[in-house]
Amino acid sequence: RMVEAGVVSPHEDALERALRPKDLDEYVGQVKAREQLEIFIGAARKRGEALDHVLLFGPPGLGKTTLSHIIATELGVNLRQTSGPVLEKPKDLAAILTNLERHDVLFIDEIHRLSPVVEEILYPALEDYQIDIMIGEGPAARSIKLDLQPFTLVGATTRAGMLTNPLRDRFGIVARLEFYTPEELQRIVTRSAGLLGAPIDAVGAMEVARRSRGTPRIANRLLRRVRDYAEVKGDGRIDKAMADKALAMLDVDPIGFDVMDRKLLEAIIHRFDGGPVGLDNVAAAIGEERETIEDVIEPYLIQQGFLQRTPRGRIATAAAFRHLGLAAPQDGDA
Ligand code: ADP
Repeated sequence: RMVEAGVVSPHEDALERALRPKDLDEYVGQVKAREQLEIFIGAARKRGEALDHVLLFGPPGLGKTTLSHIIATELGVNLRQTSGPVLEKPKDLAAILTNLERHDVLFIDEIHRLSPVVEEILYPALEDYQIDIMIGEGPAARSIKLDLQPFTLVGATTRAGMLTNPLRDRFGIVARLEFYTPEELQRIVTRSAGLLGAPIDAVGAMEVARRSRGTPRIANRLLRRVRDYAEVKGDGRIDKAMADKALAMLDVDPIGFDVMDRKLLEAIIHRFDGGPVGLDNVAAAIGEERETIEDVIEPYLIQQGFLQRTPRGRIATAAAFRHLGLAAPQDGDA
């Protein structure tokens, strides 16, 4: 799951950047978020003000980082990029904030992982474009206020619920990114194939799209693997049959579930009678971190109706039983 977590080899990383849409017109789908941003960006530009702070949330690979770059481009300003875990000390954040130019965008990925002391200096920065910094040490130490240039914070997180309330309240614009439809992903795959110089037909692109867990990053990754396969096993052209064979080799099943998806559903069904079962028990059973299950694996299974999250725990639905070729306990009414 390293790829979904954003950790990829330098080569894959460069490819991913090359496929990134550059402006709002190239950004496929996310109609609601895009519409909101178009209006607020337009208004901020017209008034000559910094855009209000933006919180983007949703599972990994749906386009949060991409959107933050696009926001900066559309505003015609610089983008500074960092992440919650990287900002260890207040002075790390202070250094970045004091270097921002007028109306710049500061992108903080994994913003729910900011340490409390760092978060503390962010509040006045967001509210009044000011920070309090300590100078000197011991009894001579004193705090001084520094003015910042007006700027826009774009924060990204997998789940909005992981933010502290005071931080969440400081975002004027909150956009939830949704899983993409197969048609939207087909457009993304077709565009990416064009950029990679890989010949693909519409049905082949749809096959990759349908099996990408609603996620552009996965669609682009599968496309690259299918392209490798088509170059070695065929003449490079990607049609449905070629995509099918390549995806089967990659253990991506006909509805796009990968090994971890099936492992999770199988564990709930075979070891816990279909649930309800608590997250910690599932995590122990499949040897995966709680966070990865909650942020990466579950959201798509839930959205597709294969898993339910209830107060008593996770439940595999009748659709999950059927997908694994099993009779559901109460098929028909489950
Ligand atoms: P996140 O920050 O949410 O994890 P990214 O912004 O890094 O996701 O997106 C992952 C990849 O998916 C990008 O490199 C980009 O090529 C592609 N992508 C994401 N959103 C879109 C979109 N709306 N249209 C086209 N490609 C997209």
